[in-house]
Formats: sequence, C-alpha cells, structure tokens
Amino acid sequence: MLLPNPPLPPSFDNEGDRMVYTGRFAPSPTGPLHFGSLITAVASYCDAKANQGTWIVRIEDTDIPRIYPDSEQHILKCLDAFEFESDVEIIYQKNRLDLYDAAIEQLQQKQLVYACECTRKILGSNHIYTGTCREKHLDFANQAIRVKVSDQNICFQDHLQGQHCSNLQTDLGNFVLKRRDGIINYQLAVVVDDYLQGITHVVRGADLLDNTERQIWLGQLLGYPQLEYMHLPLAMNAQGQKLSKQNLAHALDIQHAPELLSQAISALGQQPVDIDQPHKMLAQAVAQWDIQLIPKGTEIQGIFK
Ligand SMILES: [Zn+2]
Repeated sequence: MLLPNPPLPPSFDNEGDRMVYTGRFAPSPTGPLHFGSLITAVASYCDAKANQGTWIVRIEDTDIPRIYPDSEQHILKCLDAFEFESDVEIIYQKNRLDLYDAAIEQLQQKQLVYACECTRKILGSNHIYTGTCREKHLDFANQAIRVKVSDQNICFQDHLQGQHCSNLQTDLGNFVLKRRDGIINYQLAVVVDDYLQGITHVVRGADLLDNTERQIWLGQLLGYPQLEYMHLPLAMNAQGQKLSKQNLAHALDIQHAPELLSQAISALGQQPVDIDQPHKMLAQAVAQWDIQLIPKGTEIQGIFK
C-alpha cells in the first residue's frame, strides 16, 4: 500500500501553496489528563489561535497494551468541560495503522529500515543501538523494524528553548519504528500524522525535546516538510518531579474547569483572565497571548499537583 496524498490540509489555501498555522494537541490515553496536560492544551490552542491558525486534537493510542479506555473518556470529557473545540474531527491513531505500515514500506523500498532480532534482554535498557542487525538482512516478519541513522547532527531552533541538537548515531542510535509485537512506535505515528494533517507548528512539553531530532530525521527520510517547534517548560510537583501519570499527578477535576484554566494560563506567565465560562476565558487568553511571557527554561517554578 502506498501512502495517500494528504487531503488538502487546512494549512493550505485553495491553490495549495499558502501555508498558515496548523497546530495540534495530541494526548495519549495512558492515564487521565492532569494539570501538565492542561498547560499543553492551553498553550497549543492559544498559540494557534493567536496566529489565526487551525487547532486540532489527535488521540495517540498506538501503544495498545498501555491504553486505558477510561482515560480516553476522560480526555473527551475534559475537552468538553474546558470548552476546547478541535477544528477538524478528532482522529485516533489506532484506526490508522495501515498508514504507518505504508510509511515503513516506503522506507523499506529505499532500504532505509531493517529488521532486528535483538531482544530487550540482550540490549539492556537505555542502550543506544549500534546496528548489530543492520547487515543481517533478516526477514521483516515478527521482528522489530529499525530505521538507519548516520553519523550526522540534527539541529533545530526551538521557539522557546533555542537551538537543540543531537547526533543521530551517538545520541540516538538506529531506533525502532515497529516493535516485534506489531506495535507502531510513537515517533513514526506522530511524524506521519503531522504530515497527513498538515501540521506546521508543534507545541508540547519539554520532556519531548529529545524526541524531536528523531522525528525531524524521519520526516526528512519520508520527504516531509520540516515543522516549527515550541517546547514548553514543565509544571513540577512538590517533590520536584514533572507532573506525569507515573508520578500520580491528579486527574483534572472537570467540576473546577474555570479555576484550573485560570491557573494554567498563569503558569504560562500570561496576564490573568477573568473567571468565566471556559470558552470566554480562552478567547481572552488568545487575545492576550504573548510567548515572551512564558517562563524560560524547562521547568515552571511553583508547586502543582
Ligand atoms: Zn538487532
């Protein structure tokens, strides 16, 4: 199967050439949304709307064993309660596995991927894979699929974090696109969907900074245009850890949507908004949006839960 041409994405005009802003909020339903997720949603929404852009929601649910059906419901309830509206229909990555396989096939035809039989037990965790199986020419069935990288630096200019670089070979290694159990890696699904949805700007947490060079590399191999990136500082809990599902961050309480929204806008350093219906608060936040006010660095000072 060949990848289809992207439907004329909302970021292009009728002639298909004038690029405007298309941003996205792309949560994974591996746990309920927490205050850190709300900060990302607010920032991605305000940055898109302040630039007369389109904002879309995508559910990143390819890691099927880690998905909780309840968290998907919680995400949708939160979007509703905080009155965020996706400009196009919400897509679910688990329904798009054929597209990711087609991208792998496209890379396979150019001999940019290979099958790897190494087990996690052999490799250990946190390894940088050096390409043990690269010249083995293994059959693709029932093996992990890895992408080839070369000894090359990838750098990008982040709108908040400045220049960020990684060496593909020494920092990242030949990374997995599809696991042996058939699960599509997050990196690949993100890159394919950002392209097919016409995304131009990625606004997300600084914990994902180190994924960006992998995604830029994949985009280059697939012939996709490069995106703009803005990685937000992370809200920390009382123990100095970033808010996350692993650290048992509190699920967003939709009964207190206006108060939480106001706190998220403040955490982003923006001018306060009047407590009101969430869509009115968001409109005010968009009108006042100024990325110069976002706290510098990768952490937001203050104690969040
Ligand atoms: Zn291997």
